[in-house]
Amino acid sequence: MTIQNRLNQIRERLTDADALLIISPVNRRYVTGFASSDGMVLITRDSACLIVDSRYILAASENVSLTGSEFSVHLTSAANGSFTDIARKFLNIEQITRVGFEDEYVSFAESETLREKLKAELVPCGQILRELRAVKSEGEILRLRAAQELTDEVFSDMLAVIRPGVTEKRVAAELTYRTLLKGALNVSFDPIVASGANSAKPHAVPTDRELRRGDFVTLDFGCILDGYCSDMTRTIALGEVSEERRMVYETVLRAQEAGISAALPQVSGKAVHEAAAQVIADAGYGAFFGHGFGHGVGLEIHESPNASPSWDKPLPENAVISAEPGIYLPDKFGVRIEDVIVIRHSGAESITHSEKSLIVL
Ligand code: ZN
Ligand code: ZN
Repeated sequence: MTIQNRLNQIRERLTDADALLIISPVNRRYVTGFASSDGMVLITRDSACLIVDSRYILAASENVSLTGSEFSVHLTSAANGSFTDIARKFLNIEQITRVGFEDEYVSFAESETLREKLKAELVPCGQILRELRAVKSEGEILRLRAAQELTDEVFSDMLAVIRPGVTEKRVAAELTYRTLLKGALNVSFDPIVASGANSAKPHAVPTDRELRRGDFVTLDFGCILDGYCSDMTRTIALGEVSEERRMVYETVLRAQEAGISAALPQVSGKAVHEAAAQVIADAGYGAFFGHGFGHGVGLEIHESPNASPSWDKPLPENAVISAEPGIYLPDKFGVRIEDVIVIRHSGAESITHSEKSLIVL
């Protein structure tokens, strides 16, 4: 998928407005291939402008000539004016009065300012980018695969770190450190390390609790590599594993496999969730799986589409989602297993390769 193709796809979908204004860093990166903290993108039927300040002008110009897209690069300055001054100039030239904007990203106050400065009607168009981003190109899937591979490597290294006496915070710090050492730009979210009864909290924050024999330890973590996020969860056991724990673990694993098998193009996110939830309910733990089966992963750690009860739309082919059912028994323990999968015509393809049978350290 070239940048120019993306521009064409946006134009095809731009029916309620005559231009699309893009402000969010992640969407600017998606449509231009260029990442910067500040900037503005304006796409009309006849033009595509990337407006940057002096910090980014050289890099932005280089990037545009590399990708060979039709973007023209413009610099904010005392003479040229601000981001909105430059955007308004283009709107005036093409006599555009209806401008699409990222309605979920731009605050109400910011939208009022934009309306005033651009002298245009603002039309909610965030959906266009959400839907385009939900379908990954093979180039994006390659990057997601690389990010996931790095995360697999970190997990395998972590098996030497996890032992009784080490605190959850220490494990979280090691996760972050090793992720950065392997070349990731950053972690994709603050790692979750939850041991013992803490593992019954799906989004536990690491504490000073020391790991003990008999614990289940849940690690949920990921990285950002080349702009794309990874996300994985494994629950591992320290020392002996009770019958109940083993059964809960096996149930979560079977639920995950059922959800992955159900994840085909055009099947709804809700149906995928339900395939997994059914396995958990049949085992008698229906009340202990409270979150959705999965979420889209891409430039952001949570994006469209979702595999959750409220998502009755079909999953598109080449969507990339997490597959992360769990069972959480309050005050006892919890288990979650998470892979990232690509929705393919012939069946979901997992791009997470770490061991899924219960690891006992
Ligand atoms: Zn996760
Ligand atoms: Zn996740």
